[in-house]
Order: sequence, then structure tokens, then C-alpha cells
Amino acid sequence: MSLLEVEGLTKQFGGLTAVNDVSFVVEQGQICSVIGPNGAGKSTLFKLISSFLAPTAGRVRFDGRQVSGLKPHRVARMGVVRTFQETTVFKEMTALENVVVAHQLGLTAGPFGIFAGSRRARADTLRIRDSAAEILDYLGLGHVKDETAVNLPHGYLRGLGIAIAMAARPRLLLLDEPFAGMNPDETDRAMEMVQGIRARGITVLLVEHDMRAVMRISDWIVVISFGSKIAEGKPEAIRADEAVIAAYLGE
Ligand code: ADP
Ligand code: MG
Repeated sequence: MSLLEVEGLTKQFGGLTAVNDVSFVVEQGQICSVIGPNGAGKSTLFKLISSFLAPTAGRVRFDGRQVSGLKPHRVARMGVVRTFQETTVFKEMTALENVVVAHQLGLTAGPFGIFAGSRRARADTLRIRDSAAEILDYLGLGHVKDETAVNLPHGYLRGLGIAIAMAARPRLLLLDEPFAGMNPDETDRAMEMVQGIRARGITVLLVEHDMRAVMRISDWIVVISFGSKIAEGKPEAIRADEAVIAAYLGE
């Protein structure tokens, strides 16, 4: 059984079919990328998988369980965690504090939990700080953990968005255009970050416009154009695929 199964997924917005009968699977432990020209339906597909949108037709299964129809927070609790194209961080907090807060929000209903003030809360807080620091370390952000978020350069801020998502302990991490707006150095660092996440056994689904970056890190690539899947396969096969080349040249 595959970790993620997308079957006949379709989303219409009025007369526009943004995602058209798309099927594919993602295997446990892989980096799978969805690529396609602007407006192809990548973000919509992503919102369907995380259940932020309900499909017009088709279904999504995660770890053998139906996802479509569940509330996004329930899907997140199952282990499907997404980042947003625009990351929301607490600008006046440090990088570490942002990850700590994300952790606490994931563990409890309120930001500081029902045990606030108790000895147990203090022990939990220390444990959470350690774990947040560890996430920042393995993402290569350890040296900026005490920087205020507002002072972080764009690439680091995007990285912090990934760290915040990691605090929710994903089994499948959905990254929407993590390399958008990055310079080549930042892209290289972010690619290492994604590989580091996969090395920890977390499956990654990447929605990305940057074909060059995707070719280098993906185990499997799904190509969509005008809402429909036009190809899927390993990077070498996708690079040589005529339909894919035509879709990109047509941009
Ligand atoms: P991509 O992420 O590949 O650039 P999107 O999934 O954002 O593409 O958009 C696919 C198509 O669906 C576009 O034509 C877009 O304008 C349209 N679309 C996306 N979201 C909505 C919405 N909420 N309402 C109406 N149309 C939408
Ligand atoms: Mg998009």
C-alpha cells in the first residue's frame, strides 16, 4: 500500500476545471514533486490533498484512510502537514520561539496548554525547546535560532516556515513552492533541507515551479498542465518527455 493515493481527483470552480481527473500515488519515504506551468492546478491539488478544499470528484487516501471530507486539522493530526505559500510567523519572536509556539499549538488546544504554571508544564517547555532546537539544527538553521524572525533574510524565513511545519510531526510533508523567490544559494540550502527531512523517514510532496531544482531531488515527478496529468515518472524520463517539453515551451 502506498502512503498517499490520489484517485480521479477533480476540482471545478464554476466553469473552470482547475484539477481534472488526476491520479497518482506517493510511496513512503520518497520525495515526489508535482510540477507544471503557472495556473496548472498545483496549489489546488495540494489543497485537495490536505483537505483545505473538497473535491468535485475523486478521492484522497492517506495510509489507507479516506482524507477527503475530513477537516484540515484532522488530516494534519493524521500526519499530513502543509506549508503555505506565504508563511505566517510571529515577526517579533525569535526563530526558536516560533518553532516552540508551533509545537505547543500542535500539542494543546491553547497556546500555553492546560497545565500552564505547573511543574509539569515547565518540564514540557524544556522538552519542547530541546525538540524545537533540534529541528532548527537539522534544517541547518541552528545558527539563527535566536534571531528575531523579522530580521531573517527571505531564504531563512522560508526555512523557518518548514521548521514550523516540522514541529507538527508530519508523516507526509506538503511543500508549496518552497524555492519560490530564492536565489541559487538559498535554493541549494533549501534542497538540502528537503533531503534532510526525507533522510528522517518523512515523505515529501513538493509542489514546485522550478523544474531544475525538482529534477535534482525528486524520486518521482508528476506533471500537470491545465489541470490534467500529462506525465509521471523518474526525473530522467520526465526530462526527455515530449509532452512535458511542449507544456513548458508553450509558457
Ligand atoms: P498553480 O498553483 O499550478 O499555479 P492553481 O491551483 O493556483 O495553479 O490554479 C489553477 C487554476 O484554478 C487557475 O486558473 C486559478 O485561477 C484557478 N483557481 C484557483 N483557486 C481558485 C478559486 N478559489 N476560485 C476560482 N478559481 C480558482
Ligand atoms: Mg500555486
